[in-house]
Amino acid sequence: MSFEKEIKFIKDIYSYRKTVPLHEPCFKGKEREYVNAAIDSTFVSSVGEYVNRFETMVSDFTGIKYACAVSNGTSALHTALVSVGTGYGDYVITQPLTFVATVNAISYCGAEPIFLDVEKDTLGLSPEALEQFIHRHTTFKDNRLINKESRKPIRACLPVNIFGHACRMDRIVEICSEYNLPVIEDCAESLGSFYLEQHTGSFGVCGTFSLNGNKIVTSGGGGVIVSNNKTLARTVKHLSTTARISAGYEFIHDQIGYNYRMPNLNAALACAQMENLSDFVENKRVLAAAYASFFKDSVLDFFLEPKGCRSNYWLNAVLAEDEKMRDRFLEEANCAGILARPVWRLISSLPMYKNCTADSLETARDFEKRIVNIPSSVRQ
Ligand SMILES: *Cc1c(COP(=O)(O)O)cnc(C)c1O
Repeated sequence: MSFEKEIKFIKDIYSYRKTVPLHEPCFKGKEREYVNAAIDSTFVSSVGEYVNRFETMVSDFTGIKYACAVSNGTSALHTALVSVGTGYGDYVITQPLTFVATVNAISYCGAEPIFLDVEKDTLGLSPEALEQFIHRHTTFKDNRLINKESRKPIRACLPVNIFGHACRMDRIVEICSEYNLPVIEDCAESLGSFYLEQHTGSFGVCGTFSLNGNKIVTSGGGGVIVSNNKTLARTVKHLSTTARISAGYEFIHDQIGYNYRMPNLNAALACAQMENLSDFVENKRVLAAAYASFFKDSVLDFFLEPKGCRSNYWLNAVLAEDEKMRDRFLEEANCAGILARPVWRLISSLPMYKNCTADSLETARDFEKRIVNIPSSVRQ
């Protein structure tokens, strides 16, 4: 078996690149102008007009009332988890098929992840797995969900929108609301993705985005927490700005906060990128449609956006029949200068998380061996 025709197709799409990266940023707007203006203003750090402007742009784009700009997607997750009260000895339910930052943020709170399986169609947390775990392993007492075996509370549920595709968030939120369990959406990869006509991040109590260099829009490094809840929005802003209270010229802090605010210099870049977000999504959706039609005649299956979702197709994925086929494709593609890569190893199998609670993870384990990500940059 050879993947000559697949490789030729990808090379032709990105014929302007000798080596085809998986995902590179695209700066075709006012990036330089805004970054220079930030420098000229001397406001390069955590206060400045671009930070506020960026937050307004995110809020306008997503239709979510409040946005708080922070230093990266990981700090956004950490702040969000703290804001719903996650602390030492708690559990947070999440999925093992994700980038490691999702789970590290749980650890930063002193909490432990519970890994539940993902769905075949969405790659996100399975509502069925969630229900089953709650029924078998928890009790609901004094309005709190408790792990029956360890007696420790489950504090939050953290599903992830993988590669830009939305989880079945309506169902997840419905289940969690029965047990007073806040849902935080890891939307690091899904800025520009909608589910049931609503922007991702608007279903749970809050959502978090990343503006890392490999995401659909970038601020160099950056993140945002979005929420429709005013109290929660205030809390995350307070936590991310060292919990400083307004006291004239004095610096007073009323709790342990974090230095997580997005610098104005990064926000300048972010504003220019946000101006092109709709274009980027369109560009990526056209690419995904081309891939989808091409891979119909391939042994590799192209992963399509799930039902009800209008995906940003941040990172395209194909499914090999088995591990052997995956490895052959990876080998051939990389030799030909196409930097395809396998999906992340399941986080539940990494040394620091291998003893954590998990269900069978059947689908996640199967996908771990078969998913390959293929070049997905916005085409020039
Ligand atoms: C990128 C990413 C993060 C972390 O974002 P950073 O800005 O790199 O800290 C978290 N979760 C997922 C699913 C991601 O893809």
